Amino acid sequence: MAKIGINISTGSLQQKEMIVGIDLGTTNSLIAIIHPQDRNPVVLKEFSGNALVPSVIHFGNAHQISVGDEAIPFLLTEPQNTIFSVKRLMGKSYRDIQEKASFYTYKIIDDNSDSLVKIQVGEKFYSPIELSSFILKELKQRAEHILKTSVTKAVITVPAYFNDSQRQATRDAGKLAGLDVLRIVNEPTAASLAYGFGLKSDVNKTIAVYDLGGGTFDVSILSISGGIFEVLSTNGDTYLGGDDFDHAIVNYWMQQLNVSADELKNNKSLSQEFRLKAEEAKKYLSTQEVFDGKLKELNISLSKSEFEKLIHPFIEKTIASCKNALLDAGMEKNEMDEIIMVGGSTRIPFVKNQVEKFFGKPIHDNLNPDEVVALGAAIQADILAGNNKDFLLLDITPLSLGIETMGGLMDVLIPRNSKIPTKASRQYTTQKDGQSGIIISVFQGERDLVKDNRKLAEFSLTNIPAMPAGLPKIEILFLINSDGILNVNAKELRSGVEQTIEVKPQYGLTDEAVEKMLKDAIENAKEDIQTRALVEAKTEARQIVDVTVNFISKNNKILSEEEIQVTQQAITELEKLIETGNKDEIHSAIEKLNSISTPFAERVMDEAIGKAMKGKKV
Ligand code: AMP
Repeated sequence: MAKIGINISTGSLQQKEMIVGIDLGTTNSLIAIIHPQDRNPVVLKEFSGNALVPSVIHFGNAHQISVGDEAIPFLLTEPQNTIFSVKRLMGKSYRDIQEKASFYTYKIIDDNSDSLVKIQVGEKFYSPIELSSFILKELKQRAEHILKTSVTKAVITVPAYFNDSQRQATRDAGKLAGLDVLRIVNEPTAASLAYGFGLKSDVNKTIAVYDLGGGTFDVSILSISGGIFEVLSTNGDTYLGGDDFDHAIVNYWMQQLNVSADELKNNKSLSQEFRLKAEEAKKYLSTQEVFDGKLKELNISLSKSEFEKLIHPFIEKTIASCKNALLDAGMEKNEMDEIIMVGGSTRIPFVKNQVEKFFGKPIHDNLNPDEVVALGAAIQADILAGNNKDFLLLDITPLSLGIETMGGLMDVLIPRNSKIPTKASRQYTTQKDGQSGIIISVFQGERDLVKDNRKLAEFSLTNIPAMPAGLPKIEILFLINSDGILNVNAKELRSGVEQTIEVKPQYGLTDEAVEKMLKDAIENAKEDIQTRALVEAKTEARQIVDVTVNFISKNNKILSEEEIQVTQQAITELEKLIETGNKDEIHSAIEKLNSISTPFAERVMDEAIGKAMKGKKV
């Protein structure tokens, strides 16, 4: 007789664990599954019928967190405590984003360095990984509430242009939220799967995916061959989208109503009223010819043709991106077999027409453009669960592979579940002046500290010619062949010195051992990530102390006694905290030392320039 299990606390029937698909978006996030009965992909909706969870996080007085619709009103009333667009910060340093720093209304620490950004809310510091994990945790809880079962496994999508560290950051966010991230999938790949392209392993197709959302635009050219997706090129603008259309409408009405820019700037609620009305008009014009409404008690209107004129320059820009993407892929527009539309702004008929006109063929737009990526992620999750027989499952790495870096941290080069054969490389450098060798320790596993992972091999790269710290470029290359053998190569690129070693990653590991390592990683994720953050803060602090001490000894003639003393005091405080402080205290002390030393550094620079100019004759 067949038996079924019933979960006594929830009353639900126990089913095979579900793997969910997650679209972790810049503006909105969604979660989708394959319906167990009809086997179709569906997005999970709250009773209210809402599937979109705004990717917004608000921190209350005691740092209690709210995510989604609840957090939205605080964007206006408490901008410093309300985080939006965190996806744009994933894997980025302050230098990467400084040109757009005014876009963010919350505090991003300006450390003028290449280390990853930190966001300050009150006295606490958060990484984009932690912030994204709050969104993922909320999605996980919603899914569990709707499905009445626990959700621990997920596929998460990222833009095709995300680099290695942005992908790793997304994985870490999932882990921190208690999710085993089985795979990171490109958003255009997910969209293609949602339309059924690439599901039969024998199709060969070239696909253009046009994704125009609220704040970002990208276009990707994909090729599918034998069930394998390859991104041939991607292009776009990470600050172009529906929000720009809303702005254009606001400007148009400001002229009509004679409202000055200053008036809007000084009146937040009026500016919000304008913006919301503009978005309402824009959406209305996706199905109607003329929008009529009221602003400040005055009548306003906008016709479809006026709206199209306003957004025309933006759409032209997206078409130019399509041309560039084709150029980079080495293809002509008539070679595209399918054109797929993704993102809320592709509901605008003018956008559809222009894209159709450019490619010279009908587009695919019958799926909800907000949901299509999440639906595809659910299909990918189903394939990984082994439920979809139309799809060929490729050999994958069961655990992540990486090397040990400063402070005993695991730096992953090849994430788990990567298709093999595969390769990955990253550059490192030395810590000490004249350092002639480095030890490379190769590890396998999902934990943040190498001591909790499995050591596979260790070798050293020697005979590096003497150079100042930070100057050597040591490239570590991991290459896994189709038999699962890992070759690790280390090469100092300036001198050409190199060394290779062969490792068998899976040797001696049973399925149960792999399972256990994964379980441990999820269970310890929170402490692991906290330890990693502390180790990283300490490493950063040590580097800043070194640089500052060096700076003072070189420039002590330019600095006053008092300046040296104040700096020295900040250094001593930071050194004490390196031994005993927590991550937030260390970051605050780094901030303090930076704010003391930056003006000195600028002055020294000015003097140096002054001296250099003196000798020159014009
Ligand atoms: P996404 O980032 O993909 O969620 O897209 C959100 C953007 O789509 C926002 O700028 C919305 O204003 C826009 N949007 C949503 N629905 C419509 C519609 N019916 N017509 C025009 N734009 C829309």
